[in-house]
Amino acid sequence: MSDCLFCNIVDGEIPGDIVYDSDSVLAFNDISPEAPHHVLIIPKKHIPTLNDVSNSDRDVVGELHLVAKKIAAERGISGSGYRTVFNCNSDAGQAVFHIHLHLLGGRKMSWPPG
Ligand code: 5GP
Ligand code: ZN
Repeated sequence: MSDCLFCNIVDGEIPGDIVYDSDSVLAFNDISPEAPHHVLIIPKKHIPTLNDVSNSDRDVVGELHLVAKKIAAERGISGSGYRTVFNCNSDAGQAVFHIHLHLLGGRKMSWPPG
């Protein structure tokens, strides 16, 4: 999708601060971090929202979480804790319509989220 920001990062047309790269998943630091660690973990395949995930995407959606766990361990926040979030559509504040798992950590977070 040439008009998708995250597809453009996957294709290398827009630079990303890449922290993980596999055949199916890319992870990069958020450009406007909300925590000391704020990483976006995305499928390389364009999927607009969580509503659009299908059975055939189950492996890649699972991989997103495994990558979150791996990055958290590498950054030493597995024990202190971290949060993973998918925002879906407007009530959740989704701004980029290519699914991305937020990995947030390195500070105390409140619950429920605003
Ligand atoms: P959403 O609100 O859609 O769940 O989250 C979108 C995220 O993408 C936001 O945290 C925002 O800071 C991040 N973002 C927006 N544009 C860019 C960009 O060009 N590069 C990177 N690395 N992150 C971006
Ligand atoms: Zn896309």
